[in-house]
Amino acid sequence: MQSLPKKYDFGEIEAKWQRKWEEMGIYHFDWKDKTRPVFTIDTPPPYPSGEFHMGNVLNWAYFDILARYKRLQGYNVLFPQGWDCHGLSIEIQVEKEHKIRKRDVPPDQFRKWCEETVDKYIALMKTGILKMGCSVDWTTEYRTMDPDYWRRTQLSFILLHKKGFMYQGTHPVNWCPRCETAIADAEVDYEKREGKLHYIQFSLKNSDENLLIATTRPEFIPACVAVEINPEDTRFKNYIGNEIIVPIVNRTVPIVADESIDPSFGTGVVMICTYGDKEDVKTVKKHKFPIVRLLTENGRINENGGKYAGLSISQARRTIVEDLKNFGFLQKIEKHSHEIGVCDRCKSHVEILEVKQWFMKTRILTKQVEAAANDVVWYPDYMKIRLVDWAKSLDWDWVISRQRVFATPIPVWYCNSCGEILVADETWVPIDPKLEKPRVDGCPKCGKNDFIPEQDVFDTWMDSSITCAVHAGWPDRSDWQRLFPADVHPSGIDIIRTWAYYLMVRHLALFDEKPYKSCLINGMVLGSDGRKMSKSLKNYVASPEVLKKYGSDSTRQWAAGGGATGSDIPFRWPDVEYGRRFLVKLWNVSSFANKLLQDYATKKTDDCEVLLLDKWLLSKSARMIQTVTEAMEKCQFNIAIEEIRNFTWHIFCDSYVEAVKDRLYRPEIYGESKKKAAQKVLYDVIYRILQLLSPITPHLTEEIYQSMFSNRMGYKSLQITPWPKIENALIDEEVERQGDLIIALITEVRREKGEKRLPLNTQIMNLTIYAGDKETAEIIKQGKDDIVGTLKVVDMILRQEKGEGREITRYPNIHFIAEY
Ligand SMILES: [Zn+2]
Ligand SMILES: [Zn+2]
Repeated sequence: MQSLPKKYDFGEIEAKWQRKWEEMGIYHFDWKDKTRPVFTIDTPPPYPSGEFHMGNVLNWAYFDILARYKRLQGYNVLFPQGWDCHGLSIEIQVEKEHKIRKRDVPPDQFRKWCEETVDKYIALMKTGILKMGCSVDWTTEYRTMDPDYWRRTQLSFILLHKKGFMYQGTHPVNWCPRCETAIADAEVDYEKREGKLHYIQFSLKNSDENLLIATTRPEFIPACVAVEINPEDTRFKNYIGNEIIVPIVNRTVPIVADESIDPSFGTGVVMICTYGDKEDVKTVKKHKFPIVRLLTENGRINENGGKYAGLSISQARRTIVEDLKNFGFLQKIEKHSHEIGVCDRCKSHVEILEVKQWFMKTRILTKQVEAAANDVVWYPDYMKIRLVDWAKSLDWDWVISRQRVFATPIPVWYCNSCGEILVADETWVPIDPKLEKPRVDGCPKCGKNDFIPEQDVFDTWMDSSITCAVHAGWPDRSDWQRLFPADVHPSGIDIIRTWAYYLMVRHLALFDEKPYKSCLINGMVLGSDGRKMSKSLKNYVASPEVLKKYGSDSTRQWAAGGGATGSDIPFRWPDVEYGRRFLVKLWNVSSFANKLLQDYATKKTDDCEVLLLDKWLLSKSARMIQTVTEAMEKCQFNIAIEEIRNFTWHIFCDSYVEAVKDRLYRPEIYGESKKKAAQKVLYDVIYRILQLLSPITPHLTEEIYQSMFSNRMGYKSLQITPWPKIENALIDEEVERQGDLIIALITEVRREKGEKRLPLNTQIMNLTIYAGDKETAEIIKQGKDDIVGTLKVVDMILRQEKGEGREITRYPNIHFIAEY
């Protein structure tokens, strides 16, 4: 047995084990092993943002705790790590950095800049994952921007096209005018913004009468195709069927009844424009109104806007409001706060545009999504409904094409003569249609050999929504289905509607199988003020600062113990500090025990004389193993860490170790066999604590294991020892009840010494204990050695009867008198 350094230096220990674990290769998934059961984690490849923030710390702590726990349970664990590189965020970053827009430079140059930015960001985030000591299998690392990955994205598209899930069509889509691309429903955030409600006079045709209309978007007047009224609204129902003249553009439109109109909003008369918002899309479809396309793809008014053509949306609004005022149509403007859809990447107001796009049929899968969601185990269970509700709420299919540069190319060409769509063959991928011609002799329809490549690219979610299959080895490993569905998909509460959902529809469509068996959800990290952590709120804490100050093991305790799984977790420095104090306590008790265990041989334990407190601790320890195992099985990491810390700190260190010290120090008085019993318990229980704790605080537990246990236990790392079995035979309520009594007695006498300001090792010449009854006296007798030893009693007198003296807390029948 080696000795432990006196001081716990987390910096040195953590760096050392992070290096050694990698050298040992213990986190490599063994693809050849067909004996151990497998456990696959669908690590969501993070979007490289350049920062591994506290939210990421919480995510990866969950992933890693689970991975380590399953390894101890004997599983061959696949803990992969990829990077979800493509997408708007990086493009926006590059545009800002180089002060350009995507069209200002050749696409190759733009892509190269994006790749450089991604690489820089990946390096920063990888440092965070390494510093946390995550047991990632780095041989699995991949980047979705590499052609080898797009091969898989493209292949999945081709297969789904064959199955009829992919189609091209001209439909209204969410459009970000700033990013100049279509975006999916999941990429639209809703924000409350201050706006204005404009009250505008519309004149009835062939009449002197006017109707007052309230709108937040007067710039859409040139696209007004109808005016609607609720048929129950007695103020206006007589006008239904009449025609009305749209001011400024002088177009005549019908007045139509629609029960969805809210009579209490504005004036109760509503103008319908194509398309002012998502509601308009429904209305236009329902009433078959004509469509007036008003916006260009970069958010300007097009030729249908007449004199306003070429203006930006905000310029058009100002000009039109000015004109309405000048012509006397504008009655008043009121302040009005309302919720609008914004681009989740750049926060610009999302518009509705009708443009040709590629779609995936997702709504036809909603029933299957619901059934699969019910089949998945959710941690916590109430998260399931979020996925189901989201799937049911979708009005449109998933628009999968984007008008951007840095993304996986859509492997499609169009025949220049007849317009035929040519989708790449499965064997051609990876392929960029802009760089390569289709590998055919001519158009399958007209025979001509003149093709136009698809310029659009895939939504980045097309890359990241096939990870369950990709991690399992699809399509290259013939036995990939051994690892599919993934055992767990861990994810944040904020991305259930994207990650959990897209994974579900893609895999269901591709393989008729749900992608994951369970879904582990973490909440958001809040600032210490209880609000969402954010740089603008000054409640922001950067993870490198935390890791530097307290190290990974303490930080991971915060993540595990900060709150129930799935709930939002505030970041509080005292939680991390508490974690560190606990580790120091464990370090010190281990160091102390290590010295007392130098002469202990595990093999020969038959000559132990096990005393009441030994049995008491073993019972409590067995109970802890049971509680922790059950909690870990349910991914309730907070329950696990609390149980271990409570047991270690209070039951083990404060009570047991204090009570058996004398037995360990002075075998000449109590006998070798009683000392050996205490040694055995110390040894076994510390080992159990280290094991149970190791998924959460892997570094410190490994360090203690290597010094105290590795030679005898024979495993090269604590991380691959077998998780302790629940030993029900050791759980003995009677023993626990009796031991509790002894500990209460010892604690009370020590408390009295403290109150008298006597050092704890002060001798008690006479300790008279009045047990109150015969049975209690018997129990106290069993604990005599440890009572006398711990309290330094020269002469202990035990009486059965009730007596005088100081009462023991929670045991009103027991009293004692100590004479010093
Ligand atoms: Zn945008
Ligand atoms: Zn053709």
